[in-house]
Amino acid sequence: MNKEEFIQELNKININVSEEQMNNLDTFSSLLKEYNKKFNLTSITNNNDIYLKHFYDSIFLMSIEEFKNKSTLLDIGTGAGFPGIPLAIFNKNMKFYLVESNTKKCNFMQMIKEKLNLENVEIINKRAEDFAKENREKFDLATSRAVTQLKILLELEIPALKINGLFIPLKGEYELELKDSEKTLKSLSSQVKKVYQYNLPKENSKRSIIVIEKTKKTNEIYPREYSKIIKDSKNTK
Ligand code: SAM
Repeated sequence: MNKEEFIQELNKININVSEEQMNNLDTFSSLLKEYNKKFNLTSITNNNDIYLKHFYDSIFLMSIEEFKNKSTLLDIGTGAGFPGIPLAIFNKNMKFYLVESNTKKCNFMQMIKEKLNLENVEIINKRAEDFAKENREKFDLATSRAVTQLKILLELEIPALKINGLFIPLKGEYELELKDSEKTLKSLSSQVKKVYQYNLPKENSKRSIIVIEKTKKTNEIYPREYSKIIKDSKNTK
């Protein structure tokens, strides 16, 4: 996807792109390619792929109704910045908390934050389960892309959401993962409100956004130790 196609595709989902936002994305893309040579931050390295598979894919989240009129978003396992940084470039009135356990990826995101003056971004070099324990019932929205199975993510993110807060992970095929998460959804007093399904432009691969609402305060036992979460994820439904 070249830059013109990127702008056109976003216009189709009612997202306008300013010159400043394009300049910010260009700087981000150049630095990602440059630092990737040294630090191996992402497997997507070609400019057109960065615009499609990183930028468009991240920004799509803004098009859903549930994203609108919110103040805070938690992104777990942001890696080199996705979806959190493109979303922060387009939503200066929201605050983004990007949690990533890998220090070199956090250092890269910190450098991008400073270069682009993203005062609405906080980068947290921690494991998600530790962060969620210390930041309970705090965020309006939570998301994640390409980190782990839904039922594991639920335990890492739901405790950090406010009551009535929404977890909106970016997924590919979602049906099996959702079926496998039924028990976890109940334990975490959460329910599926809606699923958005769409195809990524150009390559047509399947995407979905599951909208999950937290209905009650989370029991203090969650999130458990990561080893326990993983062990249970292999045994139970
Ligand atoms: N979300 C980014 C994307 O879509 O490009 C990065 C995806 S990368 C495949 C998964 C990232 O999640 C890695 O950078 C990894 O360090 C991070 N991660 C995995 N488990 C984590 C945890 N429990 N807490 C914080 N970060 C975690």
